[in-house]
Amino acid sequence: MAEAGIRRGKLMLSGGVAVGRSLHMQRLFSTFALALVATLLCAPPALAWGPRGHRIVARLAEAQLTPQAWAEAQRLLALRGAQHLSDVANWADDLRNTDPALFQRTRRMHFVNFHSGDCIYDPPRDCRRGECAVAAIEKYSAILANRANPPAKRAEALAFVVHFVGDIHQPLHADYRHDAGGNDFQVRWHGRGTNLHKVWDSLMLDSTHLSAAQYTRKLQAEDSSIATGGTPVEWAEESCRIDRDDGVYPRTHFIDQAYVDRELPIAEQRLRQAGARLAALLNRDLGNG
Ligand SMILES: [Zn+2]
Repeated sequence: MAEAGIRRGKLMLSGGVAVGRSLHMQRLFSTFALALVATLLCAPPALAWGPRGHRIVARLAEAQLTPQAWAEAQRLLALRGAQHLSDVANWADDLRNTDPALFQRTRRMHFVNFHSGDCIYDPPRDCRRGECAVAAIEKYSAILANRANPPAKRAEALAFVVHFVGDIHQPLHADYRHDAGGNDFQVRWHGRGTNLHKVWDSLMLDSTHLSAAQYTRKLQAEDSSIATGGTPVEWAEESCRIDRDDGVYPRTHFIDQAYVDRELPIAEQRLRQAGARLAALLNRDLGNG
């Protein structure tokens, strides 16, 4: 992404010169290109399903809400100037820039690190001080469900729940290998270096060139029988087992088409499950007012 963007920036510059644009336009292009390059070079490591993955989960869930849960969700979303779950689905990641202090306090809630390949959740070991995705979903779900809480607090909890239920279904957000969820596992992707976490967060999904809306419709059309049950602990343990058993870690460190053909359907299944389970959770927390 960064390399392509930089190349694009250079092309724009030379294009501007070639067609003899005014000096002013050239300067404008130069400034834009430099800003683009700086932005791309400073991009921090990924922390979650990319924006597209989270929006897909939110869209899938929203379509499965009961009328009561949807009415209550809309009331809370409006407090945040939002209309849809997908509008708030990436807020927890965006905090990195919009509210660094809150981001710092919630940073560890985007994932859970198992410390053993048995993939059995052990809270004192895997979720110290309650700072992990499992505990975060339980915490914010409880805040959301309690109508005695201030509406603004419940609205914030809704945004966190929408995001963290997505994250916990991304297999590398519940990993056991002590490699920062694949961030430290370097791979080759289409001739350039990246890391495995990024492949799962966004590169595989983005390679389909489907928008979140298109992707959601594709997933809805393909499947209608997703198990909605389970607990955050079970969802995390599932993710861990996928990392361990389903070829997520390529021995060659090379992401080829065979890898994508094998793993993308698993990623899509996790999105479907996340959407269905998020809906079930929200129907429970918001539905019986
Ligand atoms: Zn996240």
